[in-house]
Amino acid sequence: MSVEGPIDLVQQVRAHLESLQAAGVLLVPRGGPIAVPQLRLVPAPPPDAPARPVAAAAPVPPADPLESRRRDLDVLRAEVAACDRCSELFSTRTQAVFGSGALDPDVAFVGEAPGSAEDAQGEPFVGKGGDVLGRMIGACGFTRAGVYLFNAIKCRPPKNRTPTSAECINCRDFFRRQFELVKPKHVVALGPFVSRLLSGKNATLAELRGTVHQYRGVPLICTHHPDDIEKDKTGRLKRETGFDLKLLLSTLGREAPGAGAK
Ligand code: SF4
Repeated sequence: MSVEGPIDLVQQVRAHLESLQAAGVLLVPRGGPIAVPQLRLVPAPPPDAPARPVAAAAPVPPADPLESRRRDLDVLRAEVAACDRCSELFSTRTQAVFGSGALDPDVAFVGEAPGSAEDAQGEPFVGKGGDVLGRMIGACGFTRAGVYLFNAIKCRPPKNRTPTSAECINCRDFFRRQFELVKPKHVVALGPFVSRLLSGKNATLAELRGTVHQYRGVPLICTHHPDDIEKDKTGRLKRETGFDLKLLLSTLGREAPGAGAK
């Protein structure tokens, strides 16, 4: 094994003096102590030693688009939770109600705005109306977790009044971004307000039902709101909703269910 010899020692002292000079030390007292750096004798590697392997860079995992959209939805949810654009709704709501369900669902169901139960629980379509919607979803052969549920307006209007135009405009960007991130293949608008809002047509629900409209390039079916179906004692809205769900299923290329909302 060879070690560094006297020539290396001279070279290291010279290098040290040069570094002192570079640091502004111009005089070293003659005969005085010179701070000599700690010199370490480094054994030279044997000539036939293999080259030290260079650590390979860690592979960058491919981006998961679904995971990335989930993260973006979480960011959007936090934005909605902190939003105070509508001063009245902000001051009267318990909380904003964002939405829930699967990404890339076959169907997304869209309501108008949270009611009192949704406002209290922070979840869309809970309470009696939520039970009716659950039966509508089941009649189509889906589960609640397999579709996506959300409202056009994220905060409850006081006494469940109809949202104002200003509130619709304020919340429109949230809804659109959420829609783009969820990417449903079909949309069902629940009730006359959302049916007009998403179809862009100033028409009655009776006029909008029975036709496949489009919302941002996605097939859109208009039907009754579960709260209205629940309150209707004649059974008419339930029957009409059954027809609308059959239209949805035929648009999806699926078998029609045996029954609609019960
Ligand atoms: S309704 Fe929408 S825009 Fe208005 S305060 Fe709630 S989240 Fe914000």
